[in-house]
Amino acid sequence: MKSTMQESPLLISRILQAGTQLHAEQEVVTWTAEGARRTSFAEVGTQAAQLANALRGLGIDGDQRVATFMWNNAEHLVAYLAVPSMGAVLHALNIRLFPEQIIYVTSHAQNTVVIVDNSLAEPFSRLLPHLVTLRHVIVNGPIPPEVRAALEAAPQIEAVHDWDTLLGAQPTTFDWPLLDERDASSMCYTSGTTGNPKGVVYSHRSNYLHTMQVTMGMGFNQGDRLLAVVPMFHANAWGLPYAALMVGASLIMPDRFLQAEPLAKMIEAEKITGGAAVPTIWTDLLRYLDEHPTDTSTLRRVVVGGSACPPSLMRAYQDRHDIEVIHAWGMTEMSPLGSTAVAPLEATGDRHWFYRETQGRIASTLEARLVGPDGAEVPNDGESVGELEVRGPWITGSYYDNGSNSEAERADAASKFDDGWLRTGDVGSLTANGFLRLTDRAKDVIKSGGEWISSVDLENALMAHPDVLEASVVGVPDERWGERPLATVVRATDSLVDAAELKEFLSGKIVGWQVPERWAFIDEVPKTSVGKFDKKVLRKRYAEGELKVEVLD
Ligand code: AMP
Repeated sequence: MKSTMQESPLLISRILQAGTQLHAEQEVVTWTAEGARRTSFAEVGTQAAQLANALRGLGIDGDQRVATFMWNNAEHLVAYLAVPSMGAVLHALNIRLFPEQIIYVTSHAQNTVVIVDNSLAEPFSRLLPHLVTLRHVIVNGPIPPEVRAALEAAPQIEAVHDWDTLLGAQPTTFDWPLLDERDASSMCYTSGTTGNPKGVVYSHRSNYLHTMQVTMGMGFNQGDRLLAVVPMFHANAWGLPYAALMVGASLIMPDRFLQAEPLAKMIEAEKITGGAAVPTIWTDLLRYLDEHPTDTSTLRRVVVGGSACPPSLMRAYQDRHDIEVIHAWGMTEMSPLGSTAVAPLEATGDRHWFYRETQGRIASTLEARLVGPDGAEVPNDGESVGELEVRGPWITGSYYDNGSNSEAERADAASKFDDGWLRTGDVGSLTANGFLRLTDRAKDVIKSGGEWISSVDLENALMAHPDVLEASVVGVPDERWGERPLATVVRATDSLVDAAELKEFLSGKIVGWQVPERWAFIDEVPKTSVGKFDKKVLRKRYAEGELKVEVLD
């Protein structure tokens, strides 16, 4: 029997139209050097129509790729909505990638138009001659004549446009096409540290379903004021832009003001109620809030993800600032949200915290399983550990291949899938009720004397010490054990804590044989382009003898 239901496609244009009409009075606040700049959702809708008309005029009439090279701001949101809604494909470039990676992904995605923030136009102009597929540059905001001249000098560029002038000349409505919900809406490249980045192509349908999960899992509501720190060029902005439009929550966009001080100002001035960012941002902000009285009374819960959140950080926010930190896990390949750590209502006390400290409960629309080194499934008993594999409607089934991928790249890409499941490369356990606890990235697990040591467990234990600002643990070669942990530690300001004290602090929290002998104090943990601990750099520094390492018995 067939159902009697209608079949409206799940399109981003629906999110755009509903959001900008039903929640017309909500706003996007963009932080600038002169203070807040405000754009209502109604204005975002108008600008989206104007941008779509402008892009049509520049020859975007199908699934061409429109790139952005931007911070989080109102215009980036307009592009997030307009480009997919008109049937083109949005490619938000990660502005922090190495130049050769930006050149690679721009050409691999065959971007033809790019929208660039004026504050980034000068460095972008130096890249532009190498971005040979681009034809048009749209600049958001005024730029000095010499920067414009540099952009115009790139031989492949037909024209450089000014956002306001270009959009100002356009009709304020657009006839959004009825697309196939399985069509591409946007793409993101993984921030992988080895080899060329791999492309993931989202669909309207995957984004739509993912957005619904984000609103549920992160608990966003109409009238919320969300601080969108997670960059729009990282992992689909964790779905925040579409979720905000879907529920009617205002977005506060920090643009390039990502330090703790301006973020604290935004929280106070804009009466922020929620937000999302990687742990390092929340760590810096916590330190600032502890030292500078700030009114955070409107802020009830924030989401942290992208790398493991130290439990001590969650508890500090809860105890000292009454802010609930929700731990979430995901991947670019998963749109990205896979799980959120909201404790079951009936769990209290230690049980409550047990759940909060996991990576969260896998979204019910997704399936997850653990696979052991022998390829056999591992039970979901909360203890047995294996590599996590996932599948579901917002998880990629392959990587984008434009025909130029090499044989080796194809083989590498294929190795990330296992009979229809995505191999996440994350290692951990699952409880029977679906809570995920990651112990490591497969490549970061420390293999000592044939046993595994979780670098994340060591880091969390160390970061619970009041004198430790950050700690990152990597496996280093060891003659006797094959590999042993090296703890690299960033001390809190003015602290003189030493390795012996930290080693002592770990006893009782970490089994004895896992406690590191090798210790190094560093000024800062190196970070990747999206703010994660860059363990590759730490291993290299160690191998090249750049770290001052103390070895304890
Ligand atoms: P990306 O695609 O850049 O977002 O990176 C995805 C990877 O980040 C995952 O496969 C995990 O290794 C890591 N990750 C994301 N969220 C978490 C989390 N809450 N805890 C631990 N690792 C995380």
